[in-house]
Amino acid sequence: MDKLNLGGIIKESIVDGPGIRFVLFAQGCRHNCPGCFNQELQAFRENAIYTVSQVLDMIDALPHLDGITLSGGDPFEQADAFGELAKACRSRRLNIWAYTGYTFEELIADPEYRILLEEIDVLVDGPFLFEEKDPLLPFRGSRNQRIIDVQSSLLSAPNVRLIRTTN
Ligand code: SF4
Repeated sequence: MDKLNLGGIIKESIVDGPGIRFVLFAQGCRHNCPGCFNQELQAFRENAIYTVSQVLDMIDALPHLDGITLSGGDPFEQADAFGELAKACRSRRLNIWAYTGYTFEELIADPEYRILLEEIDVLVDGPFLFEEKDPLLPFRGSRNQRIIDVQSSLLSAPNVRLIRTTN
């Protein structure tokens, strides 16, 4: 079974997507965005190692969750293991959000990334751009980032279907 290398876990968050969410922070990211708010998660070093099964046990102990959010770091650098986790969570009727420094177009073109992409409901994509930073944006840090309905976009590619927010 695949293992996850994590920089942290928040078991109940209300700010990383709608509802109450279990948030996993991937260790490792190659985007190196100036102004990154999680710089300690950029290094590709072994941090906290969990099996997918261990994480599922923690999730199953929280029956009031609405979903899980994959953040980072960049979860697509561990697409196999996060894909396995996301698939198991979808079977539990949990909603899956993921944050990435890659664009949707980059992910859909690479079979290794698609393993995870195809298990996600909502993707917040693109690098954090300091010059486009806006603290008032819901669920994203800079204006270039998009909140994407992944399942609809996979069917309509190359057109990307966005989820509308109030800002
Ligand atoms: S993608 Fe996210 S974690 Fe990675 S460098 Fe950019 S802001 Fe930091």
